[in-house]
Amino acid sequence: MSIEQIAVSAASVSSLRCGGEIRRACFPRGVKDLREVYESCGDEVIFLGGLTNTLVTDEGVDEVALFSDRLKGLSVEGETLVAGAGEKLVKVVRYAAKCGLSGLEGLANVPGSIGGAVRGNAGAYGAEISDFLSGVDVFRFDVGQPEYLSREEIAFSYRYSNLNAREYVVRAYFSLKRDSVTEIAERMKNFGKKRSASQPKEPSLGSVFKRHEGTSMGWYIERCGLKGEKKGAFSFSVRHAGFIVNDALCDGAEARAEDYLYLVRLAEKRIYEEFGIRPKREVNVIGDKRQERNWR
Ligand SMILES: Cc1cc2nc3c(=O)[nH]c(=O)nc-3n(C[C@H](O)[C@H](O)[C@H](O)COP(=O)(O)OP(=O)(O)OC[C@H]3O[C@@H](n4cnc5c(N)ncnc54)[C@H](O)[C@@H]3O)c2cc1C
Repeated sequence: MSIEQIAVSAASVSSLRCGGEIRRACFPRGVKDLREVYESCGDEVIFLGGLTNTLVTDEGVDEVALFSDRLKGLSVEGETLVAGAGEKLVKVVRYAAKCGLSGLEGLANVPGSIGGAVRGNAGAYGAEISDFLSGVDVFRFDVGQPEYLSREEIAFSYRYSNLNAREYVVRAYFSLKRDSVTEIAERMKNFGKKRSASQPKEPSLGSVFKRHEGTSMGWYIERCGLKGEKKGAFSFSVRHAGFIVNDALCDGAEARAEDYLYLVRLAEKRIYEEFGIRPKREVNVIGDKRQERNWR
């Protein structure tokens, strides 16, 4: 394969600042490169965006990992905004606001890439990315071909899409509404304030679990007495117990994915014992199977 494969340390790119080596990372620029990857690897590939919702185990990853960083492009035509999968959601929301296009402001400050946000149907403050999506260009790793999927062809629900592990998002199309630039900016500012008042500042992967019947899992974690509980460099945030944060920068402990997973399993066990609920994980895990054995 002529498209370069390099080793990337997850600890240097993940928002959690933790994880082993991704030994065969590729950075395709478009469909031509994706065809090349397909011709040499078939569908033996995994997809990665900003690693803001994905834990990489300490042992790292051997599969060919496609990072979307070079799938760029941001443009507006009428009320349609087109964004490459590798564009940061934060940048896309700001760009839409600058163009006087409203819809995405609830998602201001949600980290990660457009590809990851579409795949996981990212949402905040009552808005989900799928509410504004009109379609996506995907590269299908089952057949080695690009395809356009309209919004109606994809099933979305809370933090879920049925895009599968062979459907690589290359570009997304959003249908937005004209509004005053000042008012959009004001709404973004308010959402930003709410977020910084409620979310921890330390490195994390966001909420570990999905809400249960509308209630944040942080509420259950707190009721189980786990707020502030530590393992190695990680702890359930005292600001928002639904986040596991990396305190390594403050306490100097080594950040091990194994400790993060320990806390995840601890919360699952305790929430089940106390409330009879099996929490659904929002965070994905990739890497060595040994650590994955209790996961999903
Ligand atoms: C501080 C913090 C706050 C957060 N707040 C929120 C929030 O309010 N709301 C929310 O929804 N999320 C939130 N998150 C989680 C995270 O930001 C989102 O899930 C984000 O959309 C993940 O994007 P990513 O590019 O980092 O995806 P990754 O973590 O890299 O990948 C996530 C999933 O998407 C898949 N994927 C990635 N790129 C593609 C692609 N091009 N094509 C197909 N599949 C792909 C991966 O295979 C994986 O299954 C937060 C995270 C942090 C760290």
